[in-house]
Amino acid sequence: MSYARVLCVGLVGVAGRLVEVEADLSPGLPAVVLTGLPDAALQQARDRVRAAVVNSGCEWPPGRITVNLLPAALPKHGSGFDLAIAAALLTGAGALPAGPLDGVVLLGELGLDGTVRPVRGVLPMVAAAAQAGITRVIVPLPNAREATVVPGVTVRAVDSLRRLVGFVRGDDRLLDPPPESPAPAVTGPDLADVAGQQFGRYALEIAAAGGHHLALLGPPGAGKTMLAERLPSILPVLDDEAALEVTALQSIAGVLPPGSGLIRRPPYQAPHHSSSMAALIGGGSGLARPGALSLAHRGVLFLDEAPEIPRTTLQALRQPLESGRVVLARARGTTEYPARAQLVLAANPCPCATTDQRCTCSPQVRRRYIGRLSGPLLDRVDIRIDLLPMRSAQLMTAGGPAESSMAVAARVLRARVAAVHRWAARGDWRINADVPGPQLRQPPWLLPARDTVALRTALDRGTVSARGFDRVLRLAWTIADLDGRDRPGGDDVAEALQLRTGNAGPAPMAAARRPHLTAGRSDRPLPEADSSPLASLPAGDPVPGHGIPPLAGSPPSPPVGEDPSPTGATSLFADESVVRR
Ligand SMILES: [Zn+2]
Repeated sequence: MSYARVLCVGLVGVAGRLVEVEADLSPGLPAVVLTGLPDAALQQARDRVRAAVVNSGCEWPPGRITVNLLPAALPKHGSGFDLAIAAALLTGAGALPAGPLDGVVLLGELGLDGTVRPVRGVLPMVAAAAQAGITRVIVPLPNAREATVVPGVTVRAVDSLRRLVGFVRGDDRLLDPPPESPAPAVTGPDLADVAGQQFGRYALEIAAAGGHHLALLGPPGAGKTMLAERLPSILPVLDDEAALEVTALQSIAGVLPPGSGLIRRPPYQAPHHSSSMAALIGGGSGLARPGALSLAHRGVLFLDEAPEIPRTTLQALRQPLESGRVVLARARGTTEYPARAQLVLAANPCPCATTDQRCTCSPQVRRRYIGRLSGPLLDRVDIRIDLLPMRSAQLMTAGGPAESSMAVAARVLRARVAAVHRWAARGDWRINADVPGPQLRQPPWLLPARDTVALRTALDRGTVSARGFDRVLRLAWTIADLDGRDRPGGDDVAEALQLRTGNAGPAPMAAARRPHLTAGRSDRPLPEADSSPLASLPAGDPVPGHGIPPLAGSPPSPPVGEDPSPTGATSLFADESVVRR
């Protein structure tokens, strides 16, 4: 026999395709030709496979060897085809009997000594094989655990080419996947470590409950990073579908710990502000790799010192945040990665990054600094809050340990369950942040006109954009969910509006309704509402001549039935085309 065929899987992004590895041996001058759109790493498979075959005690077949990877149009990259290539050409040369490897997918990289090395992306590859009807796979031993999470597939492992050869000849056994190592106890950062910052904790809880993006502004030491790091600890554990996606992405990026099964905790990514666009969004030469945004899929992407991040990089985040996926076009093909991450931005109020007392930056400098956060990106952030520096009174009056992540997570879960039940009737949205704006402005979710007076006024004045209008509505639903109310009322909408427009200190409405948020602050008057640099930002959609007029205090509630906004606001409900999305 001079021809053989073995199955393997190629990956483009998270999508896998079954690849047939053909080997043909013909008389002629000794040569190995590799065809079928291989990349540089795959081209080098010729040398790796030759050394591995010889060092495994097999004879290298004489003559001309042609290895072809089908389908030829699919770009193939990496070293995961080595094992399949070796098996195909040994079978083609007659050194191995044909048959035992029929219908089996082989994955693995070969070392020169014939050891089988782990490869990236085994989980999505095995999932793709299962989808194509394959029921048996052979993978490198370190990848065996992750391969077993795919249902309906029998996974066996190899540690060397010698073992595979022995198995096919019938005188050796394949290895069983190692047992799952007991899940490590959750020892991540806990909210109990955060003293004071009641308002920051409250904002974090709302963000977690509704899946809202969050911006934290405050001087160094105010606890921005501490809070952001603890957001995953109050998010619900990942369901099966999300866990598979997250584990697959980590497998592709090569950051999945060896021997680990499904990842159940929401991931957390905090790239440095000097990270390149490729590191943040995804990219690189050849076929693009996932970036921090995709590695934070179903979890949290924390961008500290956000104004220091180049504007073009921040702008590049906008579209993926909206669509939940990153599409990267390269010469060798287009790659797509999921990117449904919850964004937390943090910023110092000024470039000198010191405490308020020592800062000498002028208001213009401070405004320009925060202005580096692009308006359109910030327009997609639902909650923008100022964290005030901690005072001794707060630390001392905090009294006892702060509430733990577990307690907060229980409330978050309750709110999320309420949202799932509500939206299940109309669509498959699971969190409030996913609900399309038009749905919120239609019965049965349309709120009574008296409850949205302040919001409609803000839209007419240009203090919130049309996109912001919908985001405030979503936020109001989340506040109601957390408080256990069926529907948001006027106070919920007003509170959401204040959380959205970035007042300094606790939003007045939230503080008035929740006295514990201002506990320990009696030594210090609340700052003027318009002192927040966030409040001076444009409202996102370009509205010439409009800064955000501060919303001091809670908006006056007009008598029921009276509508203070003369025109425009009502037309938003009548004509959805007004809302440019
Ligand atoms: Zn300063």
